Amino acid sequence: MPKKHGKQHRGQSPGAKQVTGPAAASGAAASHGLAAGRPPSSALWAGAAPAIEERVPEPAAKPPVRVAPGIVTVTPGMPFRLAEVDPDADGGFDKAEAKDALDVERARIQALQERLYAERRRSLLIVLQAIDTGGKDGTVRAVLQGVNPQGCAVTSFKVPSTEELDHDFLWRYHARTPGRGMIGVFNRSHYEDVLVVRVKGLVPEEVWRARYNLINDFERLLTASGTTILKFFLHISKAEQKARLEARIEDPEKHWKFDPADLVERKSWDAYQAAFGDALTQCSTPYAPWHVVPANRKWFRNLVVARTVADTLEAMDPRYPEAAKGIADLKVPD
Ligand code: AMP
Ligand code: MG
Repeated sequence: MPKKHGKQHRGQSPGAKQVTGPAAASGAAASHGLAAGRPPSSALWAGAAPAIEERVPEPAAKPPVRVAPGIVTVTPGMPFRLAEVDPDADGGFDKAEAKDALDVERARIQALQERLYAERRRSLLIVLQAIDTGGKDGTVRAVLQGVNPQGCAVTSFKVPSTEELDHDFLWRYHARTPGRGMIGVFNRSHYEDVLVVRVKGLVPEEVWRARYNLINDFERLLTASGTTILKFFLHISKAEQKARLEARIEDPEKHWKFDPADLVERKSWDAYQAAFGDALTQCSTPYAPWHVVPANRKWFRNLVVARTVADTLEAMDPRYPEAAKGIADLKVPD
């Protein structure tokens, strides 16, 4: 928490901004910047918000992303086959070692998140996709544990509402992208619109096929606007999904997690793998590449995702804002 500088340069808390949603976004952009006389550390946010194209002609060609060993990053422009990644991979770690290492990564994330929040210039969007039981919820819990809840927002996307379906497919996702200073997590994401929608034939093929480019444009816009995007595909095997579904059936404490629809979806396993493969190939870009995480072993999955998040935040190098001149000489009246 930016205890010392909070009120000084903020008219509005990120939490408030989040609930006001997209309608408030353009006003918020104008009210940011130099409100409290803080000099910009880059030209990116200086003054009134210029048109997106003027801010950054091309999206940062190389986003400050570092990837932990064990994760396979999909090379932009190259065909990619999911079957080539071993979901059992564990990077040579053992479980106990990985648990200790995870604690270290969490502490790093917590400290860096505070600086990101205090700086309030950029944001991090973490996208999690996986087949049912793939471990999205568990990853959120493990990686973000202990992070100041005020500085992060997790959105779990479900079947779209009528209102959401009445808009363009990106509308509901754009409304939930993280504002400056925030870490946003998409538990399922805009990729559902080329995954479940494709597998279930919810829209004609020409509609979902056009979406890959639209998704790339959307992510380019976010990147050019100061958001670093980390996209993780949690890769489990079909046998592992069976074991996890059985555990949900057998353990009364896991019954709430069991969705009979998952058994129906499982019949479309191959169609989902094909759809994932295409999404990863079509939408791995230099500015927002896809990272495939071997995810049969939960402890390994948690560790490498946490390490990548921590390394990425570190590479972003968020800084506390400069203190106002003369602050050290100020006296607080009795
Ligand atoms: P869960 O994440 O298990 O709580 O389930 C959410 C459900 O919402 C899953 O069955 C998803 O396939 C479904 N879902 C999420 N996004 C979409 C979308 N854009 N279109 C259709 N179904 C979706
Ligand atoms: Mg489910």
